[in-house]
Amino acid sequence: MSFTIHGVGISDGIAIGKAHLISHAFSDIAHYEVDASQIDNEHKRFNRAINRAQEEITALEGQIPEGAPSEFQGFIDLHRLILNDPMLSQSPKDQITRLKCNAEWALKLQVEKLLEQFLQIKNNYLRDRKNDITQVVERVLRILIGESHKTTFNGKNENIIIVAHDISPAEVVEFKDQNVSSFITDVGGTTSHTAIIARSLNVPSIVALHNARQLIREGDVLIIDGTNGVVLISPSEDVIEEFKYRQQIAHKKWENLKKVRKKDSTTKDGVKINLLANIELPGDMDQAKQNGAEGIGLYRTEFLYLGRKNLPSEEEQFLNYQKAALELDGDPLVIRTFDLGSDKHTEQTNHPTGPNPALGLRAIRLCLVEQRMFRDQLRAIFRASNYGNIKILIPMVSAIQEITQTLRFIQSIKSELIDQEISFNRNIAIGAMIEVPAAAIALQFFVESFDFFSVGTNDLIQYTLAIDRSDDTVAHLYNPHHPAIILLLNKIIQTGEKNKKPVSICGEMAGDPRLIRLLLGLGIRSFSMHPANLLQVKDAIISSDISKITPWVDKITKGKPEDYEKILDKINQI
Ligand code: PEP
Ligand code: MG
Repeated sequence: MSFTIHGVGISDGIAIGKAHLISHAFSDIAHYEVDASQIDNEHKRFNRAINRAQEEITALEGQIPEGAPSEFQGFIDLHRLILNDPMLSQSPKDQITRLKCNAEWALKLQVEKLLEQFLQIKNNYLRDRKNDITQVVERVLRILIGESHKTTFNGKNENIIIVAHDISPAEVVEFKDQNVSSFITDVGGTTSHTAIIARSLNVPSIVALHNARQLIREGDVLIIDGTNGVVLISPSEDVIEEFKYRQQIAHKKWENLKKVRKKDSTTKDGVKINLLANIELPGDMDQAKQNGAEGIGLYRTEFLYLGRKNLPSEEEQFLNYQKAALELDGDPLVIRTFDLGSDKHTEQTNHPTGPNPALGLRAIRLCLVEQRMFRDQLRAIFRASNYGNIKILIPMVSAIQEITQTLRFIQSIKSELIDQEISFNRNIAIGAMIEVPAAAIALQFFVESFDFFSVGTNDLIQYTLAIDRSDDTVAHLYNPHHPAIILLLNKIIQTGEKNKKPVSICGEMAGDPRLIRLLLGLGIRSFSMHPANLLQVKDAIISSDISKITPWVDKITKGKPEDYEKILDKINQI
């Protein structure tokens, strides 16, 4: 039976392919049938996962510090015992054979049965062992799921559509190297980091589908219409043909758009606009160059820290930044110091996520607490500054004392390098991201402290409107046209102009062709966006005449909010 579900499209285009369900939570395990010839394979996958879990436990044992409490060893022994118990290490295989199902599902059924029996136990000690069983099972599941990602995405199948309840930004990064043709999730807002990275995969994507993960089965044929946020499940052949036709039209449009690649990003009235790219990993640079970026306006370096157990060393970071700088051959490379925390949480720092992660220890706040990490990164950036046009960008500044502390710290790193006779660009430009309303409102009090500013509209909108950017239940209220946002942007740009400090935009607003004229009219002359949007934005710029837009934008900033939308439509029609 074919049916349709709706969500929020975050990356345009049409994809046609087969669903691959991925799971994380124990309660969110995919169930699929395997045919008789695959049963042996599932047994082997299961055995491999149990063996790997054994190895992990042994490795853990090797890391017990000297003098650690004896409970440590007790915990390891208990987990080993649970893992070796035939109820866990053998019975799921019988389920695989009997039910002809995948290994994860068989393990889930078995453990649910076990846990139910535990609930009947009166003895507190034994009842508490329920958590240990869950932990052991989660370890095996994680291995099985990780393995299934890899086995499925070895590049053989080009039409895989990932279906997940939720995915972390770090996981999306893993998919960058895989042949994924689309990406859909139950939750997530349009400017969540997961959505931003999904967009950078340059494949149609939809979030906020609510129950796609439950309704879609492994292997279902899907059509993803990223432009309209629609998923068609098991469509008829006629419908598939219709969408293939639409795919061709979109492809032609894209080919036409490629023609602007070589053109100058200059408006009709002769104003040169800078178009830069946002990258998450050095590998993104190719796409940025292909689409004609004039440099990197935002390098989200925190992705170098995610999805790994150890921290990147100063040397590793140096090599990374050096390579990027050399590849850019004199074009700017704006390196944002790590914006970890919130939805880009890392366990390497040992800080809990906190009750309200977006308002917690993240970005520059975390840099100042984790000074060793900050020092390693700054040293790497300074050393790489010998090889190109590198600038430093500080995320999420909000308080004057924090700015003073940050700049002092940066100065101390410079002095350290000078003492050690390590060469670097002593005039490296240092900028701040304006993404907290407090910073936007108080900009005049610290404008002199920085060389440039970059507006992070994703967070600026989140914090100004009190809309969690990753929460789909309030995604409809996430509004870049909100009077408060337009007035704040206007204030930031005016303060920058008055003090002769360049202001650019690196949030998702910069990559939205429908907002380009508004931003031009407000005075923005430098835009940084994910590389896939560069051509569309250049197209919008080439067709704009700032002298005609400005009077209308003045009407917005001085006029009544109820007229905003009408005026915005007008601006886009000029
Ligand atoms: C922003 O907040 O707009 C921004 C560019 O930073 P990030 O999306 O990485 O938070
Ligand atoms: Mg931000």
